[in-house]
Amino acid sequence: MNLAQFPRRGYVKQPTPVEPLPSFSKALGGKVNIWIKRDDTLPGTGGGNKTRKLDFCIADALARGADTIITCGAVQSNHCRLTLAWAVKEGLDCHLVLEERVPGSYNPQSSGNNFLFQMLGVSSVTVVPGGSPMLQEMQKLADKLAAAGRKPYIIPGGASNSIGALGYVQCAQELQQQMFEQGCNFDHVIVPSGSAGTHAGFLLGMLACNMNIPVTGIGVNRKKPVQEQAVFDLMHQTADLIGAAVNIPREAVVAYDDYVGPGYSLPTAAMAEAVTLLARTESILLDPVYSGKAMSGLIDLVRKGVLPAGSNVLFLHTGGSPALYAYEDTFRKSWA
Ligand SMILES: *Cc1c(COP(=O)(O)O)cnc(C)c1O
Repeated sequence: MNLAQFPRRGYVKQPTPVEPLPSFSKALGGKVNIWIKRDDTLPGTGGGNKTRKLDFCIADALARGADTIITCGAVQSNHCRLTLAWAVKEGLDCHLVLEERVPGSYNPQSSGNNFLFQMLGVSSVTVVPGGSPMLQEMQKLADKLAAAGRKPYIIPGGASNSIGALGYVQCAQELQQQMFEQGCNFDHVIVPSGSAGTHAGFLLGMLACNMNIPVTGIGVNRKKPVQEQAVFDLMHQTADLIGAAVNIPREAVVAYDDYVGPGYSLPTAAMAEAVTLLARTESILLDPVYSGKAMSGLIDLVRKGVLPAGSNVLFLHTGGSPALYAYEDTFRKSWA
């Protein structure tokens, strides 16, 4: 697929590493060979998957003459941190609208990404209650800024529109090349599935490359059918944007909801186990909201034999470790 037809800023300068996890695999019984793709090492303050998407989204903003970026996310949003970081780098103002999905969870003094919003000099933070219509909230702010002479550009939550998803179509193309060069033939890929752009772009790219490798999403928020439909719809929108005729079988879209626990961003014991195990075997930091829960899903699928003995499984590490510092108590309690 031709992605060169779209403007991008060039934030992703080289492929992210694909590495084996021998000690982690051994700790899980040694029968399944687990590998990791290190999108946590992407450029941008603190790294993570949103850099691939913002490479295209911010290029679109600049192409349209924007001088101000508005985006939204949860109170510890990695997406907000990275959008702000790239906006700063480009000399753009950046305003954040934060959704307090867990009532009372916004604390301007809290650590993690919230601290970094302030470190990076965010233009404004607007906090709205959970369930608020986020696009409308951002549009209200955009109207106000436009009336004051600014040229605002809205990036939706997670940069999960068709433009942002292009970043993960490219990631699948990148992986295809790396698998060939490194001679590693994966049987299965596990990806976190949140606002859906990562899962949708990656799966679309894999299908378009005829890789014939199942991709399993681990949901962090929505119920399975709702999440799968969101991924499926975004895949179609992204294929349309590219102008690519890709056959997208509905059954290729799988997003388990078994590892969400009590809700989005709320810790689970299995998440704490997964984050701690990867840290203590491979010195790699996951995050509590996305990659930690996704890894807890991978661990369960290994233990249940869904990922069979002898298989080579790739985990897409989407980043997020700055959020760990807002969850210290959770981890200290889990180790006690
Ligand atoms: C946003 C995010 C995800 C989920 O990606 P989506 O494209 O929103 O599905 C996964 N991991 C981390 C660390 C994230 O910040």
